[in-house]
Amino acid sequence: MRLYYDDPALLTFDGTVLACEPTTTGHRVALDRSAFYPTSGGQPHDLGALRAGDRIVPVVDVSADDDDVVWHHVAEPIPTGVAVVGEIDRERRQDFRQQHSGQHILSASFDHVADARTESVHLGLEACTLDLHREVTADDCRRAEDHANRIVWDNRAIAIRYADAAELADEPRLRKATAREGRVRLIDIPDHDLSACGGTHVHATGEVGLIVIRGTERFRGGTRVTFLCGRRAVESYRALRDAADASARILSVAAADVPDAIGKLREDLKQEQRRTRELAERLTGLQVAALESRMDATGVLVALLVDADAQGVRAAASQLVATPGRVVALLGGPAPHALVVARSADRSDVDAGAVVRQVVAAHGGKGGGRPDLAQAGGVTVSVDALRQLAAVPKF
Ligand SMILES: [Zn+2]
Repeated sequence: MRLYYDDPALLTFDGTVLACEPTTTGHRVALDRSAFYPTSGGQPHDLGALRAGDRIVPVVDVSADDDDVVWHHVAEPIPTGVAVVGEIDRERRQDFRQQHSGQHILSASFDHVADARTESVHLGLEACTLDLHREVTADDCRRAEDHANRIVWDNRAIAIRYADAAELADEPRLRKATAREGRVRLIDIPDHDLSACGGTHVHATGEVGLIVIRGTERFRGGTRVTFLCGRRAVESYRALRDAADASARILSVAAADVPDAIGKLREDLKQEQRRTRELAERLTGLQVAALESRMDATGVLVALLVDADAQGVRAAASQLVATPGRVVALLGGPAPHALVVARSADRSDVDAGAVVRQVVAAHGGKGGGRPDLAQAGGVTVSVDALRQLAAVPKF
């Protein structure tokens, strides 16, 4: 007998062990009557304990088998015939009653305001979702959310009743047809929703407290709506408030002005990046002019540009070898350096790629390239060592 069917607020009950079987992880116990909810219908199981005399045996999972037997999963066996007291974790039961009743209210609201049917439901430990058969807009969501909360604040009594599956075929209020046969349990929210459901619900809509939509995403041609009810809605508000306030403090603006302030910061950053790029280009131009005077008689230049990154070194090298007859090997930044070796088009006697490979082999780093231009990063070679290398003919 499932006691939560008619009394979902019942948290303590007496029962007798009918069966106890070993499982791969421990034991499972069946009782003559239980208020424990087994995982089903998108709602997770209860947690709690079975008290047998002085022993308190935690219930870590609850499942129902094909024969409708509710199994309480426990670590240690409780012999058949023993009388037990079942105790259900109040917080968890209360939480899922809020989420599940809130889901019925929100699903029916989407039906009423947006003609969007709920195809499936997931009540998770973190997030709850419902999947609508069609895509809905942000405005649909706002209206459904408003509608749902009006039902909550009406504090309508939620009735649990039973009907024969055959009678239900003609019931126009039923939100979704049921595949069940025989006696069907109905959850009735007056003038709002009638659903066939075996879940644990609140007694009146007001107990749900608050329903908020946290987000939506496209899902299988429809919309997946993530929502939170009751205590979870308050916790979510608190987390968002803390994040908004912390952001506002960093930006020295009111919380409501955070999006505008971030937009302005991004615009400022873009301008600064543009300015930095322009300055870097001007700097390269000045460096190139200075380097040209240091080129030796054979048109070879080996130099270190302390302030240049890989991009700056490459830009300087490209400019220098635009003039015929030149070979340049430039190191950039502090060690390990960026290295660029380049030659003018008429200096086919030099293979820049081979030079870079030779330097990397001897001094570490990674790189390579073409005969006219090659580069490497993470090179620890010194300018002097590079000059000695350049002194060898065919550099
Ligand atoms: Zn339900």
